Amino acid sequence: MSISICPACGFSAPDTDDPTHAYMSPSAACWAMYGEVLAREFSDADYYRSHRLLTDAYCAQHSIGPDRRARQSIHIHLAGLILHYHDGVSGPEIVRFLKTAARRSDFPRISAPAPDGSVTIEQIYAAGNADEHASAVDAYASKVLAFWEHEHPRIRALIEKVMQ
Ligand SMILES: [Zn+2]
Repeated sequence: MSISICPACGFSAPDTDDPTHAYMSPSAACWAMYGEVLAREFSDADYYRSHRLLTDAYCAQHSIGPDRRARQSIHIHLAGLILHYHDGVSGPEIVRFLKTAARRSDFPRISAPAPDGSVTIEQIYAAGNADEHASAVDAYASKVLAFWEHEHPRIRALIEKVMQ
């Protein structure tokens, strides 16, 4: 059995032929596990409380390709994490911000350091109940934000432009 390593997060798992994403760069196994975690969120309101934060974190971690949609995705989802963690902005306000920001077209490609596999969706998948899920999502999302620390000034500039 061959092992695949997710190029975006470093998650390592037996390779599969499952579909992956159109413009984000997860391995098929990483994408499938994220799908299972999303299914839990969509079937249980207690899990769903973490949905926006998880979406911002997973998309910020996995939108590393050159495609225009990936470049847009990493900018707006990193902005979502910065608004959440640094500015204490509420969920509905973040969603409004993301919709406005997505109308822009100035999204250069930003460079990703190589992932070491220490921050992956598997840590959220392992949660046994909704409270563990919420803490796992919070730990994961704050680590994804820290991983992109070298890009925070660029994202802060984007936030200021959108807020004008
Ligand atoms: Zn991954």
